[in-house]
Formats: sequence, structure tokens, C-alpha cells
Amino acid sequence: MKKGKIRGFLSLAAFVLVVLISAGAKAEEINPAKKDVLEWLSKQDVIERFGKISDAIWSYAELGLQEFNSSKLLADTLEEEGFSVERGLAGMPTCFVATFGSGKPVIGFLGEYDALPMLSQKGRVPVKDPVIEGAPGHGCGHNTMCTAASCAAIALKKAMEKHGLQGTIKVFGSPAEETLISRPYMIRAGLFNDVDVVIDNHSGSTLATGYGKGGNAMYSTIFSFKGKTAHGAAAWGGRSALDAVEIMNIATNYLREHLLYTYRMHYVIVEGGEAPNVVPDRASVWYYIRNSDDRLENMYKRVIDCAKAGALAAGVELDEVRVIGAIHQRHANKHLAEMIQQNIELVGMPEWSPEEHAFAKALQKELGAEEKGMPSEVGKLRPPNERFVGGGSSDVGDVTLVAPTATLLFPGQVPGDISHHWSSVACNYGSTAWKGLNAGAKVIASTAVDLLVFPGKLAEVRKEFEEYSKEHPYKSFLPPDAQPPLDLNEELMKKWRKLMEEHYINIK
Ligand SMILES: [Zn+2]
Repeated sequence: MKKGKIRGFLSLAAFVLVVLISAGAKAEEINPAKKDVLEWLSKQDVIERFGKISDAIWSYAELGLQEFNSSKLLADTLEEEGFSVERGLAGMPTCFVATFGSGKPVIGFLGEYDALPMLSQKGRVPVKDPVIEGAPGHGCGHNTMCTAASCAAIALKKAMEKHGLQGTIKVFGSPAEETLISRPYMIRAGLFNDVDVVIDNHSGSTLATGYGKGGNAMYSTIFSFKGKTAHGAAAWGGRSALDAVEIMNIATNYLREHLLYTYRMHYVIVEGGEAPNVVPDRASVWYYIRNSDDRLENMYKRVIDCAKAGALAAGVELDEVRVIGAIHQRHANKHLAEMIQQNIELVGMPEWSPEEHAFAKALQKELGAEEKGMPSEVGKLRPPNERFVGGGSSDVGDVTLVAPTATLLFPGQVPGDISHHWSSVACNYGSTAWKGLNAGAKVIASTAVDLLVFPGKLAEVRKEFEEYSKEHPYKSFLPPDAQPPLDLNEELMKKWRKLMEEHYINIK
């Protein structure tokens, strides 16, 4: 107890010193509400409390729309802290919004908690070593992300109450980001209607932000074909649905040559028969079709043509074109990113222990990456890449078109680790993840304080957004009749959950 208290005092003293000297800021320049937010978030018990929540979600490793334990833990935590929580929103049982305060401005924090399939890995073990071979794992750090947003919201609530700050905070518990599902539905349900500004976050190996257009828009679609079974050795009586899938894939691979380099396209065959001696009458292929906002729909039409061609050639029916998700590129707000950047420089990179550097170097060695340990410098404000946007996608894109939004990247992962890979799962657990999400929460809460305390800054953010919206009005890529695919990961989680329960990390 005594030791803990002394350590707590020392870390508080160290923090005050950091505040005094960091980024040339003088103590008197820091707003009292921000000072309180940072002091509360620097307490060792707060770091541990939210670190343990993150580790628990890491151990649940629930796939998109199956995040029942993860979303409940976060929603319960916010409710216990006096937020009013609405659950099961926008047709998704694991979607929630936690609200505190009233009136304008309304500040939204985004938070994710879904895992990825096949990535199970022991925490802080620098070689591939699954907890359960083939089970899901947190290979993108989403266990830390809604945790950081919730932690920031609770810190902000305390400061708002103490300093009488007017406004509303909303934490948007957003399921299934990995499959790019929830945000267009949340927007369609009106959850962002009254929101003035949104601070998004993502785990990474740096403390940084940026602005402008980035990533790719995307359709995630399952194409299903229906044929006729027959004996494999007397197949002239049958019509193979798998043939249609294969012909479609050949057609889309020829299509690549005639797409501008902004595109990405990949697929997995999710259903293709069960034995070679039965001609499959059902087959399905799941595509991710990515391009810039202005090129996506045209590319999508051409992929549908490839599916039709496959069906025609194989003599089967294109039975279903099921849109799993459809999202926009990200359009991050520059004024908001600049506000976040100021707070990044104020908060600074966490201090890493010798053990944390050693783990990082061991992992870097294993991956053949530069053995430089954990990062020491925060990032510079990133401008958009004018020559190339593309690569990955996030359904945060749709949010950026309905409210001014910017994304904070916070550290915790090892530089050189590989996203959507066991190495990322290894570092999203334990002490570096705890420190990283804590630094993230500090920047998020500090930026929110600035938005509440300086209405002029929020007005600049809003003005930029209103101007941008004239050129980029929001229209969802989702078909009007699309519904959240609640069944998508049901079977997989049914298979793994029982085995994984034995390894759950309990909070209490
Ligand atoms: Zn991610």
C-alpha cells in the first residue's frame, strides 16, 4: 500500500514536471479543466483500471457483431460512471451510445472492439505461439480503442462537472469495424444527427494524427451462385456453382489491368462444395472491392458484370449479391487535426521501461525489422498524400462526411509489427498497450476540453466542414434495403467461444 502511494505520488510529481516543461508550454497556459483531466489520467490506479479492461477485451477476442462481452464491459463501465447508455442500436445488439451532459456542443468519441479471425497469440510473447491455434485475436489493437475513448470520456465528465463546462459527450460503441459494417447503419439510424465534432482513435506504434483524404472506399459483398448437383464422375447432368465462382474470379483478375492504380481487390471462397464427387450446387465468394469515392461505384458495377459472366458461362444462377458493408474514404478535418496535434505535443510519448524495449527488440528481431525498441518521438502532423490515396479502408470514412472528424493514432504496438498478424496480437496486451491507450485518452480528452473551452476553435472546425460538405455531400453506398449481417461471424464464434472462455482474463 505504502509503496503504491509513494509510486503514485512520484508519478504525479513526474507528470507535473512533464507538463511544466513539455513542448515549451508554461503551466499557467494549461487550462485548469485540462490540467485536471491530465492529472486524473496520470493516476496509476486509473492506468491499471483501463489497462485491465483492455486486456479483458483482448482475451475475449470477439469477431464483428459478436462482441457481446466486450461491448457490455465498456457500456457497463460508462454506466457505472454516470453516463446514460443506450444499447442494441441501429439494428446491432453490440452497438451502444453512452451520453453525458446536455446541450451544445455535442462531442463524439468513436470506439471499436472487434477482433480478427485466425490470429490467436499469447500476449507479450515475441514468437508465434497461439493461445488456441486458429482462434480469433486482437491483431489491430481494437481492444485498446473503445477503452481509450471511454477512459477519455470519463476523465472529461469529471472535469466538466468540476468546472461547470456546458456540452454533451457521446461515446459511440461501434461494432464490426474490421468488416466495415457499423458506421453507415449508425448514421442511417440518425445517431450522428446532432453531433458537432468527432474524435476518432486507432492503436498503432506512434502518437500522431493527420488530415485530408485517405484510405479507400469499399464494397464488401458476397456473391452466391446456385447450380445443380450430380455425381462427380457423371457430371454432365449437373451444373457446378463453383465453376461460376472460378470463372468470375478469372474475369475480375483480367479486369485489374483496366482499373486505375487506386483500386485494391481481394476475395476468399467461402463456400465451394464439400467433396469432389458431388458437383456443388451452391458456391459463394466474398469480395473486398476498394477504390476512391468517385471510382468505386463504376468498379463495383464491372465486378457484378464478372459475376453475371461466371453464372452465364457455368449455366447457373447468380442467386444473391449480398452487400455486407459499403463505405466511403476518410476525409479528416484539418483544423481538428491541428488541435489534436497540439495536445499530442503536450502529452508526449509514454516512457517505456527496459523490459518493454527488450520485448520490442526481440519481436523486431523475430520479424526481421530494425531492432530499435519502442518509439521515443511523437509524430508530426501528416498532410494527405496527394499522389496516392488507397490501401486500407475504415467505416470511419462515412462519419467524416457527416461530422468534422479526425483520427488520433496512439502507441502501444511495436514499430515494425505487422497489422492483422500474430505479432500485433502479441503487443496489444499488457503494459505497452496500457501506456499507449492512456496517452491516447489524454490527447482525446485534452482536445475535447479545448473544443468546450474555446468555442472559436470549434467554429473554425465546423466552418471547414460546412465548406467541404458542399463539394462532398454524404450519400451512403449501402443499398437502401441492406441490413447489418448479424449472422456473419455467428458460426465462427460459436466454434471458438467455448474454448476461449477458459482463457478469459477476468477484471475483478
Ligand atoms: Zn483497426
